[in-house]
Amino acid sequence: MPATTQPLTTIQNFGVGGMAPSYIARMATRNPLPDPPARTPPVIRITELPLPLDYPPAALREAIVQRLAIAEDELLDFTLFKRSYDARKKNTGIVFVCIVDVSVRDEPAVLQRLAGDRHVGPAPDTAYHTVAQAPAHLKERPIIVGFGPCGLFAALLLAQMGFKPIVLERGRDVRRRTRDTWALWRKNTLIPESNVQFGEGGAGLFSDGKLYSQIKDPKFYGRKVMHEFVRAGAPPEILYVSKPHIGTFRLTGVVAAMREEIIALGGEVRFESKVTDMLIEQGQVAGVALESGETLHSRHVVLALGHSSRDTLRMLERRGVFLEAKPFAIGFRIEHPQSLIDAARLGRFAGHPELGAADYKLVHHARNGRAVYSFCMCPGGTVVAATSEPGRVVTNGMSQYSRNERNANAGIVVGINPEKDFPGGTLAGVALQEALESAAYVAGGSNYCAPAQLVGDFLRGVPSTQLGDVLPSYKPGVLLGDLSQSLPAYAIEAIREALPVFGKQIRGFDGADAVLTGVESRTSSPVRITRDAESLQSLNVRGLYPCGEGAGYAGGILSAGVDGIKVAEAVARGLC
Ligand SMILES: Cc1cc2nc3c(=O)[nH]c(=O)nc-3n(C[C@H](O)[C@H](O)[C@H](O)COP(=O)(O)OP(=O)(O)OC[C@H]3O[C@@H](n4cnc5c(N)ncnc54)[C@H](O)[C@@H]3O)c2cc1C
Repeated sequence: MPATTQPLTTIQNFGVGGMAPSYIARMATRNPLPDPPARTPPVIRITELPLPLDYPPAALREAIVQRLAIAEDELLDFTLFKRSYDARKKNTGIVFVCIVDVSVRDEPAVLQRLAGDRHVGPAPDTAYHTVAQAPAHLKERPIIVGFGPCGLFAALLLAQMGFKPIVLERGRDVRRRTRDTWALWRKNTLIPESNVQFGEGGAGLFSDGKLYSQIKDPKFYGRKVMHEFVRAGAPPEILYVSKPHIGTFRLTGVVAAMREEIIALGGEVRFESKVTDMLIEQGQVAGVALESGETLHSRHVVLALGHSSRDTLRMLERRGVFLEAKPFAIGFRIEHPQSLIDAARLGRFAGHPELGAADYKLVHHARNGRAVYSFCMCPGGTVVAATSEPGRVVTNGMSQYSRNERNANAGIVVGINPEKDFPGGTLAGVALQEALESAAYVAGGSNYCAPAQLVGDFLRGVPSTQLGDVLPSYKPGVLLGDLSQSLPAYAIEAIREALPVFGKQIRGFDGADAVLTGVESRTSSPVRITRDAESLQSLNVRGLYPCGEGAGYAGGILSAGVDGIKVAEAVARGLC
C-alpha cells in the first residue's frame, strides 16, 4: 500500500483522520465539536529516521523499534510528526526522512541509554494550550475585520475561548464567491467585492493551499492551524508531510466548516459588510462604520485586511493610524510543462506517486543589486487572474489537491524597497502596484486578458507573435506581445539575467517556449500597519490589532493563521 494512504496509528489516535463528515454534520446542527480525546503525549522524539520511498505499512514501526533498540512490545505508540524526502541522490535513490514522536514502556531508561545520540531526545510539547476563557459577565464582543486565514483563525480561537466575535467580511461566502470568481475567468466579468482577493477564506481560497512557512514558531501554533484544518475536512496527511497543501476545491469546504464552528460557538460572520471607517476616540478604538451606514461598537478591533484592500488602507491613513511603507516584489508568472520540472528535480523518480508533482525554489542576485526569486510556486497548477479592481490585471497561481494540470507555474519576482524604488510616501507602493496593473490591463487588450511573452523572445528583446509548446493556462486568456515595458527597467534587466542562471539549475527553465505572463505585483503588502511587539496593538490606536498579510505580519496561509492565533490571544487577554 502506498505510504501516504496507509492508516497512521497516530493520526487515528488523535481522532482527526476521517472526522470530516461527522464534523460537517455537527456543524449543520450548530453543535461545536468536543475536543479530541485527551492522551498522554509521546515523550521521545527521533529525527533523521530514513525510510525507502515505497515503505510498507509496518516499516515505520519496525524502523522505530530498531532505532531505539527496544523489544517490539515496548513500543506503546508513535506519531509521524514530519516526513520529507531527500532528493539529493535523485538518480540513485530518493528516501523519506522522518521525525517521529514515540511512547515506550520505560521512557526515562531509553532516553538515558541513548543520551549521546543527537537524533534521539525528549519530544517537545506541540499541543495547543488555551490562554484564557471569556468571563461569564462579559458583554463586549471583539470585532474582526476580514475573513481570510488570519481573521478566520483569530475568530475561531476567540470563539473557542468563549468571546463570541463578530466577523465583518466585505466579500461573499465561499459558494457565491466561487461563482463570482469564475465569472472573471470565464466571461471577463469582474465583481469588485467578490473575487480572488475578497470574500470568505480571503486571498488564499483560490490557491495551491500550500501550508508551509519559514516563520519562527516556538509555540507550535502552526500545528494548531493544521489540526483545525484537518478537523474541518483537510486531508490528515497535512499534519506530517513536509510541504503540505490542500488545493483550491478542498479549501472551500474546509473554510465553510470552520465558519460554521465559529457560529455554533456564538460568533457571528457577516458577509458583504465592508468596513469604511474606524471610530477612534482619544487614541482608543471605539468601533467601526460599515458601508451600509451601520456602526458597531467595540474597544477591541482586529484588522485582518489582506494586501489588496487599498481603499481601506487609504481610509486608515486618513484616520491617522500609524502606517509605513515596506518592501515587496514585482515580476511575472512563468509556466513550464510540469514534466520538465519533475525530470530536473526528481530524475528517474519523476512521476513517482509518493513524490507527486515536483516544486522548486530559485534565487539569483543580479549584477544590478536586485534579488530575483521564484514566488508561490504551484506544481501542476494554473495561472490565475487575481485582480480585485476594474481595469487592472494581476497574476497569481493555484492548484487543485491532485496537482495534475499540465503546467508548473511560479512568480519570478524582483525585490523592491521604499527608499530606492517608491519613495513618494506611505502609500507610494500601492500607487506603483496600481500603475503596473493598469498598464498590464491595457497591454492585455483591456478585457482582463493578460499580456504574455515567450521566454526566448523576452531574452532576445523581441515581441512574441505565436505560442510554442507551452500553452498558457491563464484564464480568460493571454495576448502575446512584449513585456519589456511592463515593469521598471531594473526589474526587466534583473529577470533577463536570472532566467539563464535558473536554466542551469533546472534544465529547460529558460527554454524558448516557456511563457511569461504579466504582472505579478501583489506578492505581499506594500504597507505595514505597525503594532507594538508585546500588546500587538497599533502603535497609536489602542484596542486596534493589525495582523496578517495586509498589516505586514504574515506572508502566506499558514503564517496568517498563526498570526491570527497570536492576535486572538492578545485580544482575549485584553478582554479578561
Ligand atoms: C491566487 C493566490 C494564491 C495563493 N496561494 C497561496 C498558497 O498556496 N499558499 C500560501 O501560503 N499562500 C498563498 N497565497 C497567499 C495567501 O493567500 C495570503 O498570504 C493569505 O491569504 C493572507 O491572509 P490574510 O488573512 O492576512 O489576508 P486575506 O487572505 O487577504 O484576507 C483578508 C480579507 O479581508 C477582507 N477585507 C479587506 N478589507 C475589508 C474591509 N474594509 N471590510 C471587510 N472586509 C475586508 C477581504 O475581503 C479578505 O477576505 C495566495 C494568494 C493568492 C491571491
